[in-house]
Amino acid sequence: MQTVRHSEQTLKTALISKNPALVSQYEKLDAGERRLMNQAFQPNSDLFGPITVHSRSDWITSHPEDPQDFEQFFSDPYRKTPSPEKRSIYIQCIGSLGNTRAISEEYIKWLQGYCEAFFYGLTVKLLAPVPVSATRCSFRVNDSTQNLQIHAGHILKFLKKKKPGDAFCIVGVTMIDLYPRDSWNFVFGQASLTDGVGIFSFARYGSDFYSSRYEGRVKKPQKVSSSDYSVFDNYYIPEVTSVLLLRSCKTLTHEIGHIFGLRHCQWLACLMQGSNHLEEADRRPLNLCPICLRKLQCAIGFNIVERYKALVRWIDGASADTPRVTPKHSREDDVNLPKPVEAFKEWKEWIIKCLAVLRKEEPSNRSN
Ligand SMILES: [Zn+2]
Ligand SMILES: [Zn+2]
Repeated sequence: MQTVRHSEQTLKTALISKNPALVSQYEKLDAGERRLMNQAFQPNSDLFGPITVHSRSDWITSHPEDPQDFEQFFSDPYRKTPSPEKRSIYIQCIGSLGNTRAISEEYIKWLQGYCEAFFYGLTVKLLAPVPVSATRCSFRVNDSTQNLQIHAGHILKFLKKKKPGDAFCIVGVTMIDLYPRDSWNFVFGQASLTDGVGIFSFARYGSDFYSSRYEGRVKKPQKVSSSDYSVFDNYYIPEVTSVLLLRSCKTLTHEIGHIFGLRHCQWLACLMQGSNHLEEADRRPLNLCPICLRKLQCAIGFNIVERYKALVRWIDGASADTPRVTPKHSREDDVNLPKPVEAFKEWKEWIIKCLAVLRKEEPSNRSN
């Protein structure tokens, strides 16, 4: 295992920059926010550590990219910033996310609440779920894994047409696997940054996708016809677990981060690190490093304490923004599904440590 270690000066410049206007912008931030972000270049920080590389197939070794510091982000003329009229993130569910309608509805609300806390200050709205047939996308059975896959580019076209006027972006989520073109095996997601549109699949995040017991294989010799979407009726959906929810939240926030113009992070362990495979995605933390946090804060304008508090509220389950409506439909739908947040516990502890740094009183201000 290797670590990608940058000097204190490199990290400091990546965060604060040497551009006088950006330095003074940084100095105007709240003292607690600066205290937290300055941990980026403190070698013994227990909040932010270096990126670790475990194998040659890891993203950073297999996809050399130019790093993006705060100044490069700030001066990127093509990046998208939410305007006062376009401050909503729309989530469109394609197909079901759970085995019952109730589970699917809960799952999408959990994602909504998480994104609303993560992109604190923006509104996250849900569009009514649609079946795969509504998108008119092409689909296929993957030759090697034998699961159903839908064409990512066709879904992007569908989403682009549905994008509401007040949308900063619209993202589709699905439990069905995606492929970008015939010659490719699969893709986790695809986005058009200029259009503010993305589609992400959580199919491979279930605990069984890579197991021999995976039930999403379409039994041969079933032939799928290009217009018969009935193959998606009652198609296999992975079981909702805490790990599936965590992976879904992580992917969604990483990908929406790209829509804001955040590129892959090469500075510190960070949500915005690229990942080439599931093991690497699991290793990547849920949090942004200070350099990426400053980028997102600059785009949205949130207060960091308020944002962290919102994330803790979501983990604690008190983030229900809409009063729960008692379901009137069938008994089967009438389930009480607690949000599975066990996998988020460690992150909550990390946020609490950050909040302590943010709130720490300067020694001179301390009352006796
Ligand atoms: Zn990425
Ligand atoms: Zn970062």
